[in-house]
Parts: sequence; C-alpha cells; structure tokens
Amino acid sequence: MKKKLIAGNWKMNGSLDANEALLKGLLSGVGQPACQVAVCVPSVYLGQCQALLAGSVIDLGAQDVSSHEVGAYTGEISPSMLKEFGVRYAIVGHSERRQYHGETDGMVATKVQRALGSGITPIVCVGESLAEREAGKTEEVVKRQLAAVIHVNGHCISEIVVAYEPVWAIGTGLSATAEQAQQVHAVLRAQLKAATSNADRIKLLYGGSMNAGNAASLLAMQDIDGGLVGGAALKAQDFLTIIAAAV
Ligand code: PEP
Repeated sequence: MKKKLIAGNWKMNGSLDANEALLKGLLSGVGQPACQVAVCVPSVYLGQCQALLAGSVIDLGAQDVSSHEVGAYTGEISPSMLKEFGVRYAIVGHSERRQYHGETDGMVATKVQRALGSGITPIVCVGESLAEREAGKTEEVVKRQLAAVIHVNGHCISEIVVAYEPVWAIGTGLSATAEQAQQVHAVLRAQLKAATSNADRIKLLYGGSMNAGNAASLLAMQDIDGGLVGGAALKAQDFLTIIAAAV
C-alpha cells in the first residue's frame, strides 16, 4: 500500500533555538511512523536542520526552488544547491508565492521541471480562492493549475506530489470538510489518470488548517494521501498527532 506523506510547511517561522527545540521534540516522539514525514524549512536553516535530522525518519524539504539552474538570479536558490543540503522535497506554487510573488501557472510548471531534473520531489500546490469557490469555479481553477504542470512535465508527472490547498482554508482555522476535500482530490486524480497510467501512485495531499483534531477524518478519505501542514507543524505535539493519524 502507498504510504501517506505528512509534510510540515514552516513558512517564515523559526530561529536557531526554536528549530532545534521543535526538531528535538519531533525526533523524541516520532518513533517509526507508518507514513513518510518531512519538514519544509526556511532556506537559511537547511544546514542546521540537515544536521539535526541526519539519519532520522524525517526528510528535509524547501519551500520554493528557482526555475533557473545557475547565474544572475539574485536571491534565488537552485535545485542543485538544495540537493547539497540533503533536500528531498520542495514546495512549488504555494498560494502565498502565487499571490505575493506573482508566480504564474507557467512559472510553477517550469520550477517543477527544474526540481525533477535535479532529483527533488516537487510538492505542487493548487487551490481556489474563496471568490472562485463561491463562483463555482473550484474545479476549473485546480484543473487549470495542474494542467500547466502536466503539459510541461508529462513524461515524468508520476514523480510529483500534489497538494490541494484551498486558499480560503490556509491559516484561517477553517478547514475544508473531508467530503469537500475528497471531491476535489477525485477530480485531480482523474486528471492525473488521463495523463499517466501511474496516477494511483501519485500522492495527493490536503492542506489548509489541518490540525490534530481534524487530521484523522481528512486522512481517512479515499484520495487523500497525506497532508501539507502549516500552523500545526510548528507545535511538536500537534504535528506528532497528525503523523500518528496518517496510517
Ligand atoms: C500551508 O501553508 O501550506 C498551510 C496548509 O497552512 P495552515 O495549515 O496553517 O493552514
């Protein structure tokens, strides 16, 4: 059976002391989880977290990756640089990057291509805004976002992870219901099935106010293969409870 993946997105949170305390808390409680586990940390802390996680069951992730490999791109970090720090996953196209940094579907697709080319698994985020949901456009939006990624990466699309993150649920405490999330995941799975015969092995994560209280019901749904967790990933006990629910 496919193992679920629980990935924490620390966003722009942390400090050397706080990271150490959080990772030590996770490592002391995680044991041998039934799922895969990752933490996606701010890039300046990759070296610190790589050292703290060495030899453990928790993988390291980044929160973005450049669409370029090398050169005059001030502030950017290439996938091969991430690889040097033992990074396994990179979040790509998070709604905060789309919203605050103008990332387009095309840019996201190119970043995915660049990550895959360096052996980093992209966690590709898709999701509709509240206005789009209220206008009945959820399916249209997530399909458009995923189609751009499939178009550019068709031959290796089964190597990606997809995270469905309704924008209205991120950081709001207002999670999608398990049924709402499953409905969209089924749409995404069907779209992936049309693109590859390996669609069943692609992990589809749910993200958006997943927490210790709602994780089990979300993770019980047929097409929900894990979670991308923001706020609750910053508290060791909450994140451990979510990991334990991912069976
Ligand atoms: C996220 O930022 O990817 C996220 C899901 O955040 P939160 O869990 O805080 O809603």
